[in-house]
This record gives sequence, C-alpha cells and structure tokens, in this order.
Amino acid sequence: MAKPSLNTLSTINEDGSRAFVHPADVKGRFNLLRRAIFAVLIAVYALLPWVPVNGYPAVFLDISARRFHLFGQTFVSQDFWLVFFLITGLAFLLFYVTALFGRVWCGYACPQTVFLEGVYRRVERWLEGDATRRKRLDAAPWNAEKVLRRGMKHAIFIVFSLAISHLFIAYFISIPELYRMMGVSPLENWTTFLWVFVLGGLLYFNFAWFREQLCIIICPYGRLQSALLDDDSIIIGYDETRGEPRGKVNTAGAGDCVDCDRCVNVCPTGIDIRQGLQMECIGCTACIDACDTVMKKLNRPTGLIRYDSGNGLAGRKTRLLRPRTVLYTLLLLVGASIFTFAVSRTSSFSANAIRMSGAPYYQQEESIRNHFQVRVINKRNESASFSIRAESALPEVEWNTAEQPLTLEPHQERVTPLFVHIPRSAFEGPFPVTIHIEEENGPGQAVRRVTFLGPDIRDR
Ligand code: SF4
Ligand code: SF4
Repeated sequence: MAKPSLNTLSTINEDGSRAFVHPADVKGRFNLLRRAIFAVLIAVYALLPWVPVNGYPAVFLDISARRFHLFGQTFVSQDFWLVFFLITGLAFLLFYVTALFGRVWCGYACPQTVFLEGVYRRVERWLEGDATRRKRLDAAPWNAEKVLRRGMKHAIFIVFSLAISHLFIAYFISIPELYRMMGVSPLENWTTFLWVFVLGGLLYFNFAWFREQLCIIICPYGRLQSALLDDDSIIIGYDETRGEPRGKVNTAGAGDCVDCDRCVNVCPTGIDIRQGLQMECIGCTACIDACDTVMKKLNRPTGLIRYDSGNGLAGRKTRLLRPRTVLYTLLLLVGASIFTFAVSRTSSFSANAIRMSGAPYYQQEESIRNHFQVRVINKRNESASFSIRAESALPEVEWNTAEQPLTLEPHQERVTPLFVHIPRSAFEGPFPVTIHIEEENGPGQAVRRVTFLGPDIRDR
C-alpha cells in the first residue's frame, strides 16, 4: 500500500480500484478495553430478544401489532410521538459526547466497529494469519490453499451475516415466531425471508469487502466531526512537539518518533495520524497502543500518540467547560427531562372517541341521537376493565354503550359504540359532550371531547 497522503484516500488505488487494508495486530490497554466492550455489546445484542421483562422480550418492536415493548414498558402507535424526543435526545447525546471526547462512539460502540473488529476480522486473522500473511495471500495466485482458506472464511462470514440478520429480525417478530418461521417453507413467510436474505447479504458485503469505506464514504457522522469538534475536544493525536523531527534511535537532535510506521500499519483506515486529525480517523486507539509499545521498548515515556485536545497537544490548557459544552449540557438536560416526564405520563391504556361514519345525527319522534365510537387499547400485560360515560352541561342528555364495563384482554384493542341522545325539545344547537374512559381498579383515566350535532333549529 502507498504511503498515506492527505491528498488521497489510502483505501483507493491510483486507478480507482479498492486497496484492501490489512491492519497489523496490536496489543495494549485500549485494545483490551475495546475487546471487553465489544464482547459485552455483542452479548447485549444477542440476548435482548431472549431476556423476558414483564412477560415480553426486553426489546420487541412488534410492528404488525403496532406495539413496542421496551424493557417492561409497552408503547402503542399512539405513543409514537415519543420517538421524536428519543431520536433528538440520542442525537444530542452523540453531539455532546463528540464535543467532549471526539469519536469514542466510532471506536468503541458503533455496530460497524464492534462486528468488524470483534467478529469478522478475528475470523480472518484466525484463518489467514497476521497482516503480512494476509497481504501475501492476497497477492498469491489462486492455488488450492488460497481457495480453501478464502472459501472457509467467506462461508463463515455468510453464516455470521445470516445469524446477525436473523437476530435483527427477531427484534421485530420475536424469537419464538422466528423459530416457527424457520421450520416452515420460506414461501409461507416470503417477506420476512426476503428481509433476512437482503439484510444478511448487505452485512456480508459490508463486513467481507466494503468495511472501512462505510465510515469514510457513507456515514455522515465522520463528516460532522469538523463542526462538532474544537481545539478543546479530546481526540487521538500525535504530539508533534515531542516527536519531531523524526529520526532513527540515537540520531542526534531527533525527536521521540523513530519513524517506524507502526502507527500507520495498525490503522484500520490506512491513515497516518502524524499528519493531524483526519476525517478517516475512527478513534480506534490502535495507533496509541502501537506507539506506546514502541516507546516502552525504547525506554521513552509513552503517550507520543495519545488522547488529548488540540490545545493539549500544542502545550496549552484544555478547557472542558466552554460555551459549546455548556449549551449541549443544557439542551441535553432539557430534552432528557421532557422525555422522562412524557414517558412517566404515558397511561396504561390508550383511548380515543370519534363520530361514527354515516349520518352526523339521527332524528326520532321524540329525540335526536348521535353515534360515536370509542377505541380503547389495553397496554397492560393483564386484562383490564374500563367504564365509559358521557357528560354534558345539559341535564336532558342521556347515553348508553354496547358493553359496560368494557373488558379487554392483555394488549387487546376494541372499538365500542356510544349513543348519546337528547329530547328534541331540549336541543338548541350543537353542544360539547365529554366522554370519560376510566380504568376500573386502576388509576388510568382519559377524557375526550366530541360535539353533539342536530338539525338547524330554524327548520323544526
Ligand atoms: S489514526 Fe489511530 S485512532 Fe485513528 S483510525 Fe487510525 S489507528 Fe485508529
Ligand atoms: S508508532 Fe510512534 S514512533 Fe513509530 S512512527 Fe508512529 S509515532 Fe513514530
């Protein structure tokens, strides 16, 4: 691979073809920490659809029933507005963390990094050897050994990609349903099968070949970092003052960098961090561990490449408290408070009342009648009963429903008619009616307002 340059991508050859990056192995404290975090995150991803909380998987986004079970709490489609707060809150959290600590998300928790470094590259290392051997295998002609090693690697990649896509689908249809579907012909559930197949194919393409291109070319987050970072954000950087001028060990007047290129060889995006912070840097810390190992061997202080701010690397003081971080903190606190308040206000049931389709009112000899329909969704994991009543400022108003109380099974949704009537003589124009839906033996209650309509009194 050509030497990294700021004028071109290290992952693309001069003729535009793909230059495959084979990062060298690295050992060190950050590498250990990242591996531990990867293992935990993969375990969380694999276990969430299995672990039951309150009778449902910890995360079950049941789209077909329009119910979302999140860690014991059930949300229905009427609660969808909360997603706005959730997504903006997570976006602000990411901005906040980036402004303080740079791309820690990319280096430690992004699924792209977690699965690429934690699963696929480890399989590759196991079957094809270290970076030098992998590069040699790349250049070698297609002999029996290369066919065998590459064939096994890709077979395992396909199995892993399909396993990850099956697990992903389980978040939407549940593990028992997934298991049932796997036991019947794909034609019986062809849309789900297609989803699994397409997703598995994309994962395989990404992790087997596309890899760091996703971070460099597709992901918008890397491009946003220039707007989110400032000279006080903690990034991974090279201490130029200490390292330059580069020179071999014992070269008179040389800095601490011995120009061994270890930091370049371990970089999964093929860049040279000594050229400054670049969009391609995903904050993986491999160059820190690599350089620290070199420094230890040379009995020099570690940290030539380290976590520090632009100001810190230039010998100035780093300010954690600054207008940008204060503003992000405030926005985050406001957003988190609104979200917590909104979630705490979500009721154990959801209800609405609308006019029934058909005529707006019905006239009988003695009375005028309006038909409404009340929709109630029981969000509890147990059955519940609800009483429905209509209320008006006019004492002559009467009402009746088809079922009282309305009893619903866990997560059941029902629509029940509500008839409101008033003697013809008492009707003097449209008037408001309040419909109360109350949970029996529970604190939940909802109030919905409708308008009673009738004929123009001048026509009577
Ligand atoms: S420059 Fe260092 S931290 Fe950035 S991607 Fe390369 S090895 Fe990782
Ligand atoms: S690993 Fe350290 S010593 Fe070696 S080239 Fe990189 S910065 Fe210089």
